Amino acid sequence: MTSRRAFLQAMGKAGGYSAAYLSMQALGLLSMPRAFAGVPQLPAGSGKGKSVVILGAGMAGLTAGHELIKAGYAITIIEARDRIGGRVWSIRRGDRVVQDGRDDQICQFDSGLYMNAGAARLPTEHHGIFHYARELNVPLEVMVNVNRSAPVDAGSEIVSQRRAVNDTRGHIAELLTKSIDGGALDRELTSKDKEMLRAYLSDWGALTKSGSYAGSDRSGYSRPPGGYDEPGKAFDPLTLDQLMSHGDWGAPALFEETFDQQAPMFQPVGGMDRIAHAIYGTIRDHVRLGSPVAGVRSSDRGVTVTLVHGAPITADYCLCTLPANYVAKLDHDFSAAKTASLAGATYVPSAKVAWEAPRFWEDEGIYGGLAWTDAANTVVWYPSGGWNSPKGILMGAYTYGGRPNSVAFTHMAPEERLAISRGVIERMHPGKSKLLGKPITVAWNETQYSGGVGCLWTDEQRKTDYLQLCKPEGRVFFAGEHLSYIPFWQEGAIESSYEAIKLMRERTAADRVTA
Ligand SMILES: Cc1cc2nc3c(=O)[nH]c(=O)nc-3n(C[C@H](O)[C@H](O)[C@H](O)COP(=O)(O)OP(=O)(O)OC[C@H]3O[C@@H](n4cnc5c(N)ncnc54)[C@H](O)[C@@H]3O)c2cc1C
Repeated sequence: MTSRRAFLQAMGKAGGYSAAYLSMQALGLLSMPRAFAGVPQLPAGSGKGKSVVILGAGMAGLTAGHELIKAGYAITIIEARDRIGGRVWSIRRGDRVVQDGRDDQICQFDSGLYMNAGAARLPTEHHGIFHYARELNVPLEVMVNVNRSAPVDAGSEIVSQRRAVNDTRGHIAELLTKSIDGGALDRELTSKDKEMLRAYLSDWGALTKSGSYAGSDRSGYSRPPGGYDEPGKAFDPLTLDQLMSHGDWGAPALFEETFDQQAPMFQPVGGMDRIAHAIYGTIRDHVRLGSPVAGVRSSDRGVTVTLVHGAPITADYCLCTLPANYVAKLDHDFSAAKTASLAGATYVPSAKVAWEAPRFWEDEGIYGGLAWTDAANTVVWYPSGGWNSPKGILMGAYTYGGRPNSVAFTHMAPEERLAISRGVIERMHPGKSKLLGKPITVAWNETQYSGGVGCLWTDEQRKTDYLQLCKPEGRVFFAGEHLSYIPFWQEGAIESSYEAIKLMRERTAADRVTA
């Protein structure tokens, strides 16, 4: 029997990195989130008289601050940047984009338009983040994550995902039907099974009565149906060869099967940072922006946090939510094991490109969704919301790790990234690239205080470094997306904070007994 890993290797070859990654999730080789256990219910007043300094005002730090204050803790959040949100970053007109070793960019988008440079979509299985949208009345809208009308770069031609997905399915159904009819599955299936499976495949693949695939109107029309005497003409089917020539061939079909990549997802109206800002609004007076932390040390009596500028801060406890690669840079006295594990944390590079443009894609019937390409920009991502308004922000690239050309993209000069993105948009929408303007590009590997999209643990590290980094060091506790089984998501940041809060609550109770 084919092992799951062998199957994945084959998927990787046929469908590129994203297909293999999606399959890994589907097959349970990547960790799946546990059921949401809810917000930790800290007894009112349980933190009274105790102080906590929280490092970092990303989702982990903000969530922790919001919950700890409810329990009576005196909190101070220290943030290096002059904005909150961390990897939740919605860029609007006038914002300055600073990248290591690159010229600064000033966003020129029209007022009301924005680019979600970091987090951009919310799956409904992420109950923690939805909880804060509900609690703090942040309006959400549907974010179209999968759209069969969006194109896929199928090697020699650009076709709709509708064609790629349905023609692929038709060919697979035909092959399986031939296997059944040719007796190849006689040992595995009874006559009754074969009959049932054959009927299923016929519906699933839109096969002819003889079991072959001759195309289907599921794949759309070369001449659309119309009024009076226009019945329309369905596309001729793409051949398997045509379909398989595309590196990310499997991606359009598999994408929405991933647990956390549903077809309809959600987004806060007006930018992903709206939820982070709503939480910030509840604790604003306790947050210090523009204060990079230099070090943290813990003693029997409390913690001391040193800053790059200004006097040190002391508190009873510290919650450190900096990305692990930035924790490693602090002046600290953590154990040798912790220090070694911090050094093992690997951050994945990632880049996005955004353009302002008149909504030419909506003229073509594309309302939201992602287009796939095996070029280095990986996707073109159409905006959800603001439908039919004059202009929108078209995401002309989003890469995170994966294929060699996607990784290379994150290290390219901004102008090179823009040129690739523009070229692919021109191929997908001939004549329209001249409408693209006011570009912004962000590479997270070149973004100070982040250094990547998220932390990637190997299976082996999950048993060693990861467990080590979850442990408190004296009075210092840790949280952040990297300390969760929901990495690369805000939900991971939130749920890791909940775990840290629970540990801090236990430690507080123990300290009160021994005081
Ligand atoms: C390109 C991209 C796409 C993503 N897409 C999605 C998505 O669609 N949906 C989703 O839910 N999530 C998405 N994510 C993931 C999500 O944004 C993160 O997992 C989450 O925001 C991480 O939160 P955090 O609090 O753990 O870390 P961070 O947001 O990184 O917060 C850490 C904070 O620490 C600060 N800091 C660092 N060093 C110091 C220092 N020395 N002193 C003081 N402060 C410091 C940083 O400035 C930052 O504010 C995406 C992320 C990226 C980058």
